[in-house]
Amino acid sequence: MRKKIAAANWKMNCTYQQGEQLLQDILGANIALQDHQQAIFAVPFPYLIMAGAKVEGKKGYSISAQNVYNKKSGAYTGEVSAEMLKSIDIKYCLVGHSERREYFQESNQALAEKLDLLLANGITPIFCCGEPLEIREAGTQNSYVAKQLEESLFHLSAEVISTIVIAYEPIWAIGTGKTATAAQAQEIHAYLRSVLAGKYGAAVADAIPVLYGGSVKGNNAAELFACPDVDGGLVGGASLNAEEFATIIRSL
Ligand code: PGA
Repeated sequence: MRKKIAAANWKMNCTYQQGEQLLQDILGANIALQDHQQAIFAVPFPYLIMAGAKVEGKKGYSISAQNVYNKKSGAYTGEVSAEMLKSIDIKYCLVGHSERREYFQESNQALAEKLDLLLANGITPIFCCGEPLEIREAGTQNSYVAKQLEESLFHLSAEVISTIVIAYEPIWAIGTGKTATAAQAQEIHAYLRSVLAGKYGAAVADAIPVLYGGSVKGNNAAELFACPDVDGGLVGGASLNAEEFATIIRSL
C-alpha cells in the first residue's frame, strides 16, 4: 500500500522554544498512525536534533530537513551536507521547494545533484514541483511540471525512484489561502503519475507517494486526501498551529 503522508514545513518560523512547544502539543494529541501513514516535520536546521529526540520511538513520526547542499563536503561556509544530516539520523529532506527555486536560484540540475547525495546517504528526498500562476493561466502546467520531473528525477533507476516522495505544490496556492480544488489536484497528480508510468512503468509510478501542497488546512485536508492520486499534503502555514496540523494528520 502506498504511503499516506502529512508533512509539516515550518519554513523560517518559530524560535527553538516555540518549536519545541508546537511539537509537544501535536505529539501530545497521541494520534496513532498505521503502518502506511507518516507524519513528518520539516524543521529549521538548528532544531533537527531536538525534534528528532521528540519523535523518537513514536511510530510513523519522523523529522525532515528543509534543504541540503548539492556538494559532498568541503569549503562551503554556511552549508549543510547530506552526510551531516545522516550523521544525526535524519530520514527525510525537502528538495526544490519553490521558495528555494525562486530566492536561491536552484536549478533542476542542482536539484538532481541534491537527490543523488541524499539517496546515497539513505535519506528520502521529498521532491517539490509545481507551476507559477502565469503557467497555470496559460494552461501549460502539465508540460511545465513534467519537465521538472524529467530534469531532476529521470536519471534515477526504477528501483531508486520508487523510494522517493514527490510533492506537487502550485506556486499560486502557496501561502495565498487559494487552494487548488480537489478536482484540480487530482487531475495533475494523475497526470504526474502517468508521466512516471511512461518512463518507469505503472508499478513504479503506483508506489510513489505524491503529496499536494498549497494552503492545505484542517478544513480542506480530508477532501484533498480522499482523491485517489493525492497521498497526503505538504503543509506550511497550517502546520504552525498544533490543533490544525493534528486535524490534518487525522485526515490521512
Ligand atoms: P502553505 O505552504 O501551506 O502555507 O500554502 C505550503 C508549502 O509551501 O509547503
